[in-house]
Amino acid sequence: MASNKKIYLDYAATTPIAEEAIALMLKYLGINGIFANSASLQHDFGEQAYEAIEQARSEIANLLNAKANQLIFTSGATESNNLAIKGIAFSQQKRGKHIVTSATEHKSVLDTCNYLETVGFKVSYVRPNAEGMIDLAAVLNALTDETILVSLMHVNNETGVMQNIETLAQTLQEREIFFHVDAAQSVGKLPIDLNQTPIDLLSLSAHKFYGPKGIGCLYIRNRKKTLLTPLLHGGGQEYGLRSGTLPTHQIVGMAKAFKIAHERMPTDTAHCHHLQQLLMQQLQQIDGVQFNGDLQNKLPNILNVSFKHVTSDSLMLALKHEIALASGSACNSGAIEASHVLRAMGIEGDRLYGAVRISFGRYTTEAEIIRAGERIVEEVTRLRQLALE
Ligand SMILES: *Cc1c(COP(=O)(O)O)cnc(C)c1O
Repeated sequence: MASNKKIYLDYAATTPIAEEAIALMLKYLGINGIFANSASLQHDFGEQAYEAIEQARSEIANLLNAKANQLIFTSGATESNNLAIKGIAFSQQKRGKHIVTSATEHKSVLDTCNYLETVGFKVSYVRPNAEGMIDLAAVLNALTDETILVSLMHVNNETGVMQNIETLAQTLQEREIFFHVDAAQSVGKLPIDLNQTPIDLLSLSAHKFYGPKGIGCLYIRNRKKTLLTPLLHGGGQEYGLRSGTLPTHQIVGMAKAFKIAHERMPTDTAHCHHLQQLLMQQLQQIDGVQFNGDLQNKLPNILNVSFKHVTSDSLMLALKHEIALASGSACNSGAIEASHVLRAMGIEGDRLYGAVRISFGRYTTEAEIIRAGERIVEEVTRLRQLALE
């Protein structure tokens, strides 16, 4: 079966938008649609936009078992992470100037923390074990009397490894330390019950669950007590925490995509499990294949794998026009830099420089995975032979 169709295996970087969400978004754009500014409540046009946004907000909140007034809209998880971390740091600095996070966070958390270090905060970066798991005891050990915030991701974007945020949330609540969770890779894939789990702040992004890019949320458990310092000042939208005209089409698209992801969660998860099994079986034909990250404790839609004696650059270059793969994280792919996540897990040498992230989802077919597996096996074999000549 010689298919020339390109195969997209970079779902962890972004997903296509679900068709139902696209169809809905189109109704919020043109002159015959609900395009008005949702803050223009002096006319019906604006009121309709306002109502659409508030309905979407309620729908999203329901799916997280949160209340609508606990959610604010942002441009995505990068902004939500920035607002959560800087917002707490600046508003709580009288209580203390220490933050705890992990060494395997997304750059939007790490770079925000690095920035805060330049303005007088102290940050502890907890290291994971060799499988990418963060030990709760290590997080607790890092806490001091000065600690105001712990920020930990739910699912890692490079390995798919899941952290046990529930237990940590309980402990931090008892210690009265704010807890922020970057849930960009888990929302829509794992059930999250914010009524059960005492998380103070949670970031999510629509384009990781088949919604549009450029829209996300920050959940704030107790807006009155948390008192975040805003990043954007202006019209005072979103309780003054995030000024700027709300993008109605993006917001309704996100709500629709989230609803679909929630309904399809068992189906999509089973599908990814099946594809992961297939792919692993094929890749295991290669000598010296190594899977990175705790296979017992990860989501099935991301597989991080290294092939001895083959660098990720050479493999990705060989497959560039056929298969979309990622090395390290997408944000770093402009510069060739080894993954900070795998490095923190103590992975080095060939295994580090050979790591490739293969991520798939709802629209990936069995035939695509089989074809991709075959092509990877062929190219790894060919590249090794070349190296020996
Ligand atoms: C994609 C991603 C982000 C960034 O989200 P954007 O909406 O693209 O800004 C942050 N954290 C994690 C874990 C991600 O996977």
